[in-house]
Amino acid sequence: MQISTTANTTPVDDTRLAEILANPGFGQHFTDHMLTVEWTPEEGWHAARITPYGPLTLDPATAVLHYAQETFEGMKAYRHDDGSIWTFRPEQNAARMVRSSTRLAFPELPVEDFVECVDALVEVDQRWVPGSEGEKSLYLRPFMFASETFLGVRPAQHVTFMVIASPAGAYFKGGIKPVNLWLSETFTRAGRGGMGAAKTGGNYASSLAAQREAIEQGCDQVVFLDDQEFRYIEELGGMNLFFVHADGSIVTPETGTILEGITRASIIELAGKLGHSVEERKFSIDEWRDGVASGDITEIFACGTAAVVTPVGELRSPHGVTAAPASTELTMQIRDALVGMQFGRTDDTFGWMH
Ligand code: PMP
Repeated sequence: MQISTTANTTPVDDTRLAEILANPGFGQHFTDHMLTVEWTPEEGWHAARITPYGPLTLDPATAVLHYAQETFEGMKAYRHDDGSIWTFRPEQNAARMVRSSTRLAFPELPVEDFVECVDALVEVDQRWVPGSEGEKSLYLRPFMFASETFLGVRPAQHVTFMVIASPAGAYFKGGIKPVNLWLSETFTRAGRGGMGAAKTGGNYASSLAAQREAIEQGCDQVVFLDDQEFRYIEELGGMNLFFVHADGSIVTPETGTILEGITRASIIELAGKLGHSVEERKFSIDEWRDGVASGDITEIFACGTAAVVTPVGELRSPHGVTAAPASTELTMQIRDALVGMQFGRTDDTFGWMH
């Protein structure tokens, strides 16, 4: 893919950048540049360009503003102690964006083009990748939307793909803290044949009423159940779940209606290599409650790009509270292994770093 670059002639100055990178927070500051590619049926993917970061001008009839045809990805660039910059399994994000995009009747952006675009933006804005202290990183947000000016409902005839980047601080400030979860018995996130497996803005829009309930209950995230029986665990609003049994075997909810996390897939491989059996199957809310009560479930953890791995604390619902399981040993072992690879402190035995 041919990518042109127009440099930002008024980049953020070094003093201000140092201030931002010292305390980046999340999703508040954006790098000096952005990447844009257009698609039409006639020309395919074209006009790939890196330009100074700035607002878009959109016609009020732009399709995405009405019908929400949008897909996105979330990934990070990590700086190693030798100054080099790495991403984690970017081709997996690219492949997931293809799957999401197919679900929204978008064109397919080839995996190698996706990775090339992400690499190109990181290269241009490399001074924005924080040092590795405190698990800081540069969060990367590739996204695609229906940019045609048309109010009819149809597969988009003009699609725009963009990549923006934002420095991110540690997810956990002041040490790892278990997340407390709210079990939604009112809202579901996905149904059979729906969009649950796609990373599309609408799924997050539909999660927010439940998220508001969670916050009111003093919880960090929502646990969503299946839409048929309100019985089987799906995932959190932004993370996948794993359950560890006393015999070392691990269960994670099966795919179909959940977002297949890159972290989830990596943990399935990693835990297997550590000698644990990992089963992808339906896992019910009763198994969760009874397993914690009997001690058969010793650990529960959630995972995703943002937090990597986090122990699950209490599960709260209108029917009461299920306590946090006793241990976090394997949770922390898996977390340390992944974080070690990402920041180049342990061997990349799987060849996952790019
Ligand atoms: N589930 C949902 C709903 C998510 O938004 C995310 C974050 N992308 C995940 C799971 C975890 O996915 P990943 O490990 O690829 O970040």
